[in-house]
Amino acid sequence: MPTTRSPYLTAKLQGFGTTIFAEMSALATATGSINLGQGFPDTDGPREVLDAAIAAINDGLNQYPPGPGMPVLRQAVARHQQRFYDLTYDPDTEVLITTGATEALAGAMLGLLDTGDEVVVFDPLFDSYAPCIAMAGAVPKPVPLRPPHYTFDPEQFRAAVTPRTKLILLNTPHNPTGRVFTQAEMQCIADIAIERDLIVLTDEVYEHLRFDGAQHIAMASLPGMRERTLVISSGGKTFNTTGWKVGWLCGPAPLVQAARTAKQFLTYVSSGPFQPAIAVGLDLPDEFFRGIAADLQAKRDRLVPGLCAAGFDVYPTSATYFVTADIRPIRPDGDGMAFCRELPTRCGVVAIPNEVLYLDRAAGRHLVRFAFCKRPEVLDEAVQRLATLAAG
Ligand code: PMP
Ligand code: GLN
Repeated sequence: MPTTRSPYLTAKLQGFGTTIFAEMSALATATGSINLGQGFPDTDGPREVLDAAIAAINDGLNQYPPGPGMPVLRQAVARHQQRFYDLTYDPDTEVLITTGATEALAGAMLGLLDTGDEVVVFDPLFDSYAPCIAMAGAVPKPVPLRPPHYTFDPEQFRAAVTPRTKLILLNTPHNPTGRVFTQAEMQCIADIAIERDLIVLTDEVYEHLRFDGAQHIAMASLPGMRERTLVISSGGKTFNTTGWKVGWLCGPAPLVQAARTAKQFLTYVSSGPFQPAIAVGLDLPDEFFRGIAADLQAKRDRLVPGLCAAGFDVYPTSATYFVTADIRPIRPDGDGMAFCRELPTRCGVVAIPNEVLYLDRAAGRHLVRFAFCKRPEVLDEAVQRLATLAAG
């Protein structure tokens, strides 16, 4: 995010510039580096999902699908919520298909927030949250998640809620920290949401990518929460199809309706032939979902010791594609941004400076994020390259 003013850009978006993911992926390409920055896998997902998309294209499903999404996918999303969380949604009125979770987030915020409304967020946060809040004319109220455990202080959380608060925005499992919010934390958030009559928007795109038996608590499954929760997820992470941009949101009809009104004027409709394919994925057996988590856990366990050996101070991660490392043992000035900009030329690896994912940028200055959703041989090569850092 550049700090210089952009002459034509609206005041709301000043400071957001080019996303760090675009910058770092371009740097990876330009330098031929291993890209452990932007989170995307380097292998394809399940064959039956890919084949279903090919079949849909060959069968002529290439025109505008229905605005709320194809019934086949809305029904599959509803079945998925029932199977994994015992939550019942009406596929016709309580499920909306979107262009990735990114559009679900934007649609929900643009549909639900008025100018001056406040949104309680946990800091650090995924990069689209603050710009969406800004585009809606609303104001973020951050609650810090502090390392090494990335928990929050319930009193700080309570203090962040004011009479202007409309929404609590929650991401669990959490990018970039790899943290899964505990039952007690979820209950604390739920208690305040109910007490203050707030809506909770939960971004659960990493719901199936958890390690070491960590349990994902669906906010909507807590007593009194279904009626005030909009759940967002996406097929990208679960089925290794980040480029397809098929996402969804589920919740009570009036909340979904608000998001749908905004969504109509963002993209109108989403990703025709990929919708039936993601529906096939959502109906895969439980073993598939267990398998992807186990596979990713093994990849984490391949990269993390290499990061430690290279000299980083590595924080635990129990979910997502990501691990966070403190660079100060290697670079005492703790300038994570400069470190990430130099890393490709120093050793041919790309990472993300966590600083850009913080509202309180100083809190993340010394932290960098590595993605481990890569083939074992790619991780091994990255570890070898990173080992050269310790030498000089
Ligand atoms: N939320 C989080 C926490 C993410 O990490 C991402 C990155 N993919 C998204 C939302 C966006 O998901 P999608 O690619 O489905 O738009
Ligand atoms: N979610 C991914 C990440 O955090 C990819 C970036 C994006 O979707 N904007 O790296």
